[in-house]
Amino acid sequence: MDAIALNTITNLVGGKPSPSTSTRSQPVYNPATGEPSATLPLSTAAELDAAVASAKAAFPAWADTPPMKRARVMFKFKDLLEQNADRIARAISAEHGKTHDDALGEVQRGLEVVEFACGIPHLLKGEYSKNVGPAIDTYSDRQALGVVAGITPFNFPCMVPLWMYPVAIACGNTFILKPSERDPGAAMLVAELLHEAGLPAGVLNVVHGDKEVVDAILHHPDIKAVSFVGSTPIAQYVYATGTAAGKRVQALGGAKNHMVVMPDADMDKVADALMGAGYGSAGERCMAVSVAVPVGQKTADALIETLAPRVRALKIGPATDRDAEMGPLVTKQHMEKVLGYIDQGVAEGAKLVVDGRGFKLQGYENGYFVGGTLFDHVDKDMTIYREEIFGPVLSVLRANSYADALELINAHEFGNGTAIFTRDGDAARSFADKVEAGMVGINVPIPVPVAYHSFGGWKRSIFGDHAIYGPEGVHFYTRLKTVTTRWPDGIKSGAVFNFPTM
Ligand code: NAD
Repeated sequence: MDAIALNTITNLVGGKPSPSTSTRSQPVYNPATGEPSATLPLSTAAELDAAVASAKAAFPAWADTPPMKRARVMFKFKDLLEQNADRIARAISAEHGKTHDDALGEVQRGLEVVEFACGIPHLLKGEYSKNVGPAIDTYSDRQALGVVAGITPFNFPCMVPLWMYPVAIACGNTFILKPSERDPGAAMLVAELLHEAGLPAGVLNVVHGDKEVVDAILHHPDIKAVSFVGSTPIAQYVYATGTAAGKRVQALGGAKNHMVVMPDADMDKVADALMGAGYGSAGERCMAVSVAVPVGQKTADALIETLAPRVRALKIGPATDRDAEMGPLVTKQHMEKVLGYIDQGVAEGAKLVVDGRGFKLQGYENGYFVGGTLFDHVDKDMTIYREEIFGPVLSVLRANSYADALELINAHEFGNGTAIFTRDGDAARSFADKVEAGMVGINVPIPVPVAYHSFGGWKRSIFGDHAIYGPEGVHFYTRLKTVTTRWPDGIKSGAVFNFPTM
């Protein structure tokens, strides 16, 4: 196909589409067909500069806008997201490949952060203490940082940007978004809706690109904070580089989420939970369950027996097939990487119970599809256990006891989410307390916190001190100021040279 005929995506700067003049670009693909669908410019550092200048100019007036007026833009934005949910979901699926219902779920979870942002004026209230000394009062206030930036991954092209900028903007900051280069369309559509909701020009800017723009963000002196969500090596790099440049950074990374299956768990419910959590969105979720840990050989045998036929029966198809339960992977490279992991699992001696290699769909032979894959007898030293695969590949690692299962999870380098399925309150309570992961589900396979809590893993699943969105998001995007006041007639006894005590 002639790349010139493809729609070229623009940046969004100063409230207007801003065509990039970069000499570098890359195609965006429809993963169900393997056809290119658009051309994405890989913007330059100079283009980032222009976006930052626009955001910097917009900051003073936006920061001084009464919080309730800022929130009103969010209320209108929420309405527009609801009205356009179907359109946004189609834009997500066209470039990411996830099913329509899954994409609608993503829009809804992003929209809930906007609902949270509508109430942010309440969280910006400070504290006040009267008479901290004679006629002396103290109050604290949370103020916006200035220009802040967000760098987002491909797997939630609408929701993850919405984890960031509604909170940042409602707090009074201005924002630069660098969406994933693999599926930038939905992020653009949503950013346009925020402008339609009445956002002043320059408050939100979108600059597309790759490492060149990311590095420019990390070194730009006018960017005060960076939110990053993506893979662990890049998260670590973004954290190290951004903090060395004096910025506040929250960088959320990869995951290997375990689900412990206790002998008393209802096996049908466990299998249902694992199907959705392991294969939904083709396993391309940072909260996907990629390791099932049945406790005891009997539990493991029952689990494999219940699960295997369901994995074989997975309905796989393009998002236009509304019966499909799972779509393709995002790119050809990613598909090849996932297939490579399956080969490696076999080579390292895991038992391949269901093989998703070689899956082909009539009419979509060039799509990036991998069938549902199930491994049994996976060992903790195998590559398929240690590394994040990010595909429809579930590993079963058999544990002899609950204590062994817990130890296994706690020894893993990642600690994003985890779950236990059991009827035993004692085991569940101990698990919630002792497991080293940031988000824990008790009979809930994907425990993504709602928008008024905060999302964040532990260990190498996060770099930085703040989880994202919710109250932690408000803290990340604001800084504390504490003011101590005394009016002139409060000074009764002339100059005091010793260190003040009250
Ligand atoms: P990625 O790390 O490849 O890309 C994320 C962002 O970083 C993109 O915007 C990309 O342009 C940029 N980037 C990529 N390489 C870079 C480089 N060398 N230098 C500077 N910037 C670079 O991640 P992805 O493949 O888009 O997303 C999948 C990953 O994200 C998985 O590891 C998944 O677990 C993780 N993820 C984590 C969370 C979470 O909340 N912890 C949520 C979603 C996804």
